[in-house]
Amino acid sequence: LRDRLKDPSLLREQCYIDGAWSGTSTIAVTNPASGQTIAKVPHLGAAEATQAVEAAAQAFPAWAKLTAKQRSNILRKWFELIIANREDLALILTSEQGKPLTEALGEVDIGAAYVEFFAEEARRVYGETIPTQRADARLIAIKQPIGVCGAITPWNFPSSMITRKVSPALAAGCTVVLKPAEETPLSAFALAALAEKAGVPKRVFNVLTGDAPAIGKVLCEHPAVRFVGFTGSTEVGKILYKQASVGVKKLGLELGGNAPFIVFDDADVDAAVEGAMVSKYRNMGQTCVCANRLYVQDGVYDAFVEKLAAKVKAMKVGDGTEQGVTQGPLINEAAVEKTERHIADALSNGAKIITGGKRHALGGTFFEPTVLADVRPDALVAHEETFGPLAPVFRFKDEAEVIKLANNSPFGLASYFYARDLGRVWRVAEALESGMVGVNTGLITTEVAPFGGVKESGLGREGSHHGIEEYVEIKYVMMAGI
Ligand code: ADP
Repeated sequence: LRDRLKDPSLLREQCYIDGAWSGTSTIAVTNPASGQTIAKVPHLGAAEATQAVEAAAQAFPAWAKLTAKQRSNILRKWFELIIANREDLALILTSEQGKPLTEALGEVDIGAAYVEFFAEEARRVYGETIPTQRADARLIAIKQPIGVCGAITPWNFPSSMITRKVSPALAAGCTVVLKPAEETPLSAFALAALAEKAGVPKRVFNVLTGDAPAIGKVLCEHPAVRFVGFTGSTEVGKILYKQASVGVKKLGLELGGNAPFIVFDDADVDAAVEGAMVSKYRNMGQTCVCANRLYVQDGVYDAFVEKLAAKVKAMKVGDGTEQGVTQGPLINEAAVEKTERHIADALSNGAKIITGGKRHALGGTFFEPTVLADVRPDALVAHEETFGPLAPVFRFKDEAEVIKLANNSPFGLASYFYARDLGRVWRVAEALESGMVGVNTGLITTEVAPFGGVKESGLGREGSHHGIEEYVEIKYVMMAGI
């Protein structure tokens, strides 16, 4: 991998703690397309996490005291460096994660867009003046950085999930300790190397890999940490929520989803098929906003299934760095097994395979992109997130029925639906229990909009001007005796 990078210094195999690159590289990072080791990274634990938190606490006052413009300029520089190195960053990303290179480039770009947006937003953290209730007093509310922030990120978006947390934190004046996923630490280290180059002062941004539960516990329980931002499974999110209660710590949680994707009779079916392809098969179905359950109304059901299957059959599976590949390998064996389990369960309940359905001839963790029809509402896949390239298509009769089906989930991250009737569009958008709704589109993520879920899909919002609010505390000041 190093030989293929324009700037080999972006491939780091050490952690960045307390202003220095350190740690013995022992844990293998593998390329899911080949199973080969591409780098080794340190396995650190509670002691180093504590050191990183204390370094971030030490750096906090000076960073918080910079003017918003000074922080903004540094973030802007970081953004520019990410863009200047986007090809190397994408190659590192695909090599450790598996997604097609074009998608990796897209992720680096959206990741950079968060940095750009929050570089701008840094200068707009406005407070307020409040009409007084006392003649001798004046009231204001100011916004101050919350303090040291922990960030724990997943492997499915190794780059953009980091910038979406770290850039608003830095913009607000917070310092950060990041623990990226063990599967994909290289993108995190490369981003840290560029942040260092951009002029982010030593100790303001720390990154370490290793024992996830031990590091997570320090981030949740160390008194200096005031906020923990997490993207990952609902299961781990609940552990962090409990741990954070010890010190009454604020949390941002972006957890699992189980997105319904609904196609009504009045939809543009071709557009719905396009949307389903993007929403379902992006990153091989391994995104928390991926369509997990496709509900298609009677009148367009057969046409939709046929057109979707035709597109799915045309996808090219292979190593993400190869030209024309649109589906890479899944992240690991467990991901393959879960997809297989969902397929087997649906089939045992009368569903039928339209295309795909099994491991790909390429071996490893490659899987055939799959479409199942006639899936029953009680199938396992209706209730659990697959996180794989499986599109189960359910049939429904009317609007009330499908809203009930869609909302029958403890999760509520994204939903999608295709319809043209204006009344229906409003009714359904309002009725769906999710933090985000895509109407006539399968792709909703952008740095300018608030990303987040309801119910067990999480707490808080990332991106947009709401995203920076997570990293500030409101302080009310009454000035009396005037
Ligand atoms: P996934 O199942 O998609 O890998 P996880 O929730 O297990 O999702 O992982 C998301 C992130 O949470 C990763 O960085 C992982 O290392 C971290 N993680 C896993 N378990 C814990 C834990 N007990 N405490 C803190 N972080 C954890």
